[in-house]
Amino acid sequence: MPIKRVLVTGGAGFLGSHLCERLTANGHDVICLDNFFTSQKSNVKHLLKLDNFELIRHDVTHPLWLEVDEIYNLACPAAPGHYQYNPIKTMKTSVMGAINMLGMAKRCGAKILQTSTSEVYGDPSVHPQPESYRGNVNTLGPRACYDEGKRAAETLFMDYKRSHNLDVAIVRIFNTFGPRMHPFDGRVVSNFIIQALENRDITIFGDGSQTRSFCYRDDLVEAIIRMMESDHLVGPINIGNPGEFTIRELAEIIVELTGSSSQIVNAGPLPEDDPLQRQPDITLAKRHLDWEPTTELRDGLVRTIEYFRSIDLSNFRAPTPNH
Ligand code: NAD
Ligand code: UDP
Repeated sequence: MPIKRVLVTGGAGFLGSHLCERLTANGHDVICLDNFFTSQKSNVKHLLKLDNFELIRHDVTHPLWLEVDEIYNLACPAAPGHYQYNPIKTMKTSVMGAINMLGMAKRCGAKILQTSTSEVYGDPSVHPQPESYRGNVNTLGPRACYDEGKRAAETLFMDYKRSHNLDVAIVRIFNTFGPRMHPFDGRVVSNFIIQALENRDITIFGDGSQTRSFCYRDDLVEAIIRMMESDHLVGPINIGNPGEFTIRELAEIIVELTGSSSQIVNAGPLPEDDPLQRQPDITLAKRHLDWEPTTELRDGLVRTIEYFRSIDLSNFRAPTPNH
């Protein structure tokens, strides 16, 4: 495989740090770019000693001049609490970040991959969600900064392709979990595991009947590398695990696997615009990438629980103010 200069924006985050690991292990020359809004250097500290890894503190809303062959664009807060912290900045990150990275790709002739999201489907009325479904997003609600920012980024990717014949790829990621999630990101898997390990109440929003489909991070990273390496496959392609669970079922499994004495409690109404159901249709990923997830939810949870048991929470801080 030829060695490439690869830029990973958001490369110090949960998924980005694993992607950097995989790409450096494959021998590529990797530049990790991050402003550390929702991550910290410890996620990539072990990579700093490698000759083929470089770390740049930079914000994608500002232009940047690099020479690269491939760009994975992951920079964007992903947890609802993180992206709603400064919603205007979230929208800027998706839209201005996409414009800056697409501009760089155009100048360098690089291939660029966008990590879009199942949130483009909003609270879906089609189930499971195929890529052809155009979604049901509330443009005015508290999740819109993320959903609409990601939708606009998809539009920009397609317009750069049509206008400049840029080599672009779009993946729509469904809920993904695993070691190195931020312990205070408030996402359901990390939140429930930390609560269980501390024998605190497990906080279910709504009646817990809303569903999500959880993909283990190694499966996810494999899929996005395949997408980048595919020949002229534009997508969008759904990447996720079709196994669908209610949030209550997830809570019960986590209590069982941790051996916790936590109680599962109703902690308030469902947040505004919280999707009631979510499950990827991965027909296209199977057909075009020869990919499907191989890690069962329970196996992934065991590894994630091990990780959260192993870290010292006092080394982690909540997201930094980011204007
Ligand atoms: P994460 O929050 O751990 O990683 C995002 C990274 O981007 C962080 O390191 C953060 O500091 C960085 N970042 C944020 N704003 C930035 C900016 N303006 N400039 C530079 N860096 C910035 O989240 P993640 O789960 O690793 O998500 C990575 C990507 O995948 C995101 O684009 C997210 O929208 C997408 N995605 C993730 C999931 C999931 O379930 N994990 C689902 C759908 C889509
Ligand atoms: N959720 C919950 N309790 C929590 C955190 C989340 O019941 O402590 C629910 C949340 O309301 C949503 C689901 O779990 O229905 C997934 O939430 P998450 O924030 O992980 O991501 P989303 O898929 O909504 O972006």
